[in-house]
Amino acid sequence: MPKISNRSYNALLERLNEYVQKHDGRNSPVRLLVLNVACTLNQPFTADKLVDACAEHRISKGTVYNTLNLFVDAHILHVSESRLGRSHAEYELMVGSSLRMHTICYKCGRITALHNAALTDMIKNRQYTNFIPQHISLFIYGECKTCKTKPTSL
Ligand SMILES: [Zn+2]
Repeated sequence: MPKISNRSYNALLERLNEYVQKHDGRNSPVRLLVLNVACTLNQPFTADKLVDACAEHRISKGTVYNTLNLFVDAHILHVSESRLGRSHAEYELMVGSSLRMHTICYKCGRITALHNAALTDMIKNRQYTNFIPQHISLFIYGECKTCKTKPTSL
């Protein structure tokens, strides 16, 4: 069963249905299964994590990757790209009042979770006119300490 609240899960289903209606018009049971599996994972997760979890349900790697792309298009998942390639990219469900903050190194692609209570409160308590935030992600791009101290190869 999904780890997220029913309300959040229903919001994701609604987004998926809207997307499917606009595009190919059919919702396969496999997509729902992949979504359910994604909901059971700790967020964020890599594509490989989802592939492994889906293997128990006999869902192929190709299907998982295709579904991941569809979920990103449908704003069900947020993906933080990594320079190290697709296998290092991190996905997370765009649900609830979750707030994710990460630093990402341009050079090595390392993604690190950032915890700052003051910043979290400030962003979460922000009031919007004519807008209801459902998911907030903050990415701070830069250069990590390891890369900074590494001599540049020419
Ligand atoms: Zn780095």
